[in-house]
Amino acid sequence: MDRRGFLKATGVAGFAAAVPPFLTGCATPPVRPDGSVETVPVDDLMKQGVRTMWIAPHPDDECFPGSLLARSRIHYGNPLHFLILTHGDGGQCCKPEGCHPDLATVRGQEMARVAETYKATLRHDRYWNAPLPVESFPLRHEIFKDRWSKQGDVQGLVTAEIRRFKPDIIFTFHPDWGATGHPEHMLTSRLATTGARLAADPGVEAGDLPAHRTTRLYYMVQQYWLLKAAGRADPGPVTETWDAHAPCTDELNCRDFMCQATRHHETQNDDMSMVRRMRKIFGVLRLRQVDYLTEVQDPAEPQDPSHVI
Ligand SMILES: [Zn+2]
Repeated sequence: MDRRGFLKATGVAGFAAAVPPFLTGCATPPVRPDGSVETVPVDDLMKQGVRTMWIAPHPDDECFPGSLLARSRIHYGNPLHFLILTHGDGGQCCKPEGCHPDLATVRGQEMARVAETYKATLRHDRYWNAPLPVESFPLRHEIFKDRWSKQGDVQGLVTAEIRRFKPDIIFTFHPDWGATGHPEHMLTSRLATTGARLAADPGVEAGDLPAHRTTRLYYMVQQYWLLKAAGRADPGPVTETWDAHAPCTDELNCRDFMCQATRHHETQNDDMSMVRRMRKIFGVLRLRQVDYLTEVQDPAEPQDPSHVI
């Protein structure tokens, strides 16, 4: 997540418990990136059998799409893969006994348990994670240029991982706000969008891996109305909404499955306990289907002062 209390900052916490479900969003008839009617909504597509992939920078980010991921893997039995680029070691440790031998190790263990809960495969990398305080976070393209690219070919890694897993659906953050304003959310979205395009291009080499064309790529669009009113929401458009109260197991709907899984992120208990308290916010997920073959989201974008966090 981003450890900045993105919900706390707007005073949402106090409101959320009292918000009736009908205020969490209304259904949007699915449309394609070009605005035409989408005849196969995301749930119907998952029902048909798809390989699903989540691409994000931090362990615990899966709370945003978690109910959808659980629907695909737990309810429909589809293969699910997590690609997580950092160990979140710039964050805090909420465990009373501390994090030993270090936060990165413990968060790696937590992420492994979460992947196990979702019955997902996991690739978990150790790219640099901006340390707190939030005010010191570099801009997203600076992280790409000055940090991640110096550690390795992160774009090549994302591209190869897409070819290796061969997803039908990729979920990632929105590239302009990233749900919380965290620059690593936005940067990872850009790497995922670009990676999907490069993975589909037979002219691009990624080891011996053959080209793979992903059927759909979705941005998770966070537009909870209070955050929207506070100017802290992802921009539109939204091409589809999905009701996270859909069943996942015999006992749990998908949203509650996601909430249960957050308990593994003990080091992030401040943020994760807030997610559970404000579960109504996660009752409707908003998606933007993206034509990643034409949508250019260059992670090395030229400097732009609007990229503030
Ligand atoms: Zn995050």
